[in-house]
Amino acid sequence: MPLLPRSSSENEPYRAALRHAIRSSKALLEFVGVKSPLLRPEVLQQPDFPVLVPRGFASRMKYGDPGDPLLRQVLAMPAELVDAPGFIKDPLAETQTGTDVNPAPALIKKYHGRALLITTSGCAINCRYCFRRHFPYAEHRDQKHTQALAAISADSSISEIILSGGDPLLLDDQALATLIEKFEAIPHLKRLRIHSRIPVVLPERITPQLLSLLKKTTLKTALVIHANHPNELDNQTARVLNDLKQASALLLNQSVLLRGINDSASVLISLAEKLYDQSVQPYYLHMPDRVAGTSHFHVNDEEAKIIYGKMQAHLPGYLLPRLVREIPGENSKHLLDIQLKDE
Ligand SMILES: *Cc1c(COP(=O)(O)O)cnc(C)c1O
Ligand code: SF4
Repeated sequence: MPLLPRSSSENEPYRAALRHAIRSSKALLEFVGVKSPLLRPEVLQQPDFPVLVPRGFASRMKYGDPGDPLLRQVLAMPAELVDAPGFIKDPLAETQTGTDVNPAPALIKKYHGRALLITTSGCAINCRYCFRRHFPYAEHRDQKHTQALAAISADSSISEIILSGGDPLLLDDQALATLIEKFEAIPHLKRLRIHSRIPVVLPERITPQLLSLLKKTTLKTALVIHANHPNELDNQTARVLNDLKQASALLLNQSVLLRGINDSASVLISLAEKLYDQSVQPYYLHMPDRVAGTSHFHVNDEEAKIIYGKMQAHLPGYLLPRLVREIPGENSKHLLDIQLKDE
C-alpha cells in the first residue's frame, strides 16, 4: 500500500518560505539592522556557495548585533577567502566514486551496518562552516538512486539507511514516500535515519503528510537535527519537534563546535537543556572539519577539551553529547580523549 495518497505539494507554505528566503549578505544585514564596515563588498556575494537564510531563522537573530551567533553561522565573511594551511576542499576524502567507501553514486558506506545516501544537493540554509560548500554533487547525481538501491539490496550487512544531503527534507513528501517504500522492500533494512537541519531552520516544512509518513513506515525511524546555539530554538521549533517526537522513535541533535558561536560551556549547557525541553537528546558535538574557507571557525583540541570538561561537570550523562571528529579511514567517529583534571 502506498505510504501517501498521490497529490501535489506545490502549494505547501514551506515552498513560499523558501522562495522568500534571504539570498545575499546585503539583504541579510539589512534584515537584522547591522551596518558593518568590516565586510568587504567583494565577498558579500559568493557565487559558489551563496548566502541562503529563511526569514524565520533570521528573525531569531538579535536586531543590530553584528556578533549574533545565528548571524555568524550564515553571513559570508571576508575570512572565508583566507587560504589557511591544512584546510582543504575534501578533508573527509568522501568524494571519489567507485571506491569501497563509495559503492554507488550518492552512497557512502564508511561504517559497519550503516549506509548514507545523499538525496539532494540543496539545503534550506547555507551554513558557512559546512563541508558541503565544496562537495562535487554533480558527480553523485542519480535521482532515482537506482545504483545505490541495488548496492544496498546486495549488501545484507546494511541494517540502517541514513538520508543525508544537502538536506533530505527538501525532497517533497511524495519523493520521500517513494524512496521509503523502496527501502521497506529491502528485507535487511531495519532502521531509517534522517539527518536534517530543516526542523530548526524551516519548521514550516514539517507537514502533516510528512508526520504521517514517518508514523506509517515499518522502519524504525530516527531524526538527527542540527542546532548549534540555544537561540535557534523557539516556540515554533518546540511545536514541530514535539510533533516529530510523536511520529518517530528517536530525536537527536548534532552540533558543530564553532569559534565565536558556541565555543563556551555555558552556551552548550544551555543548548543541551533547551534541546531536552524540546524533546531532543544531544548526540554529537563535532570538532569542525578542516574545510577550505572555514579556518576562522576553528577551535583547537585543548580549548575543546576544557569546554567539554565543564559540560561534563554540569550535565547529566544523558544530556552530554559525544565530542567527536571524523578521521578518514577510521571505522567510527573518533571520540576525543578527555582527561578530566582535578581542580
Ligand atoms: C557520521 C556518519 C554516519 C553515522 O555515524 P553514527 O556514529 O552512527 O552516527 C554514517 N555514515 C557516514 C558516512 C557518516 O559520516
Ligand atoms: S549540510 Fe547542514 S550544515 Fe551544511 S549547509 Fe546544509 S544545513 Fe548547513
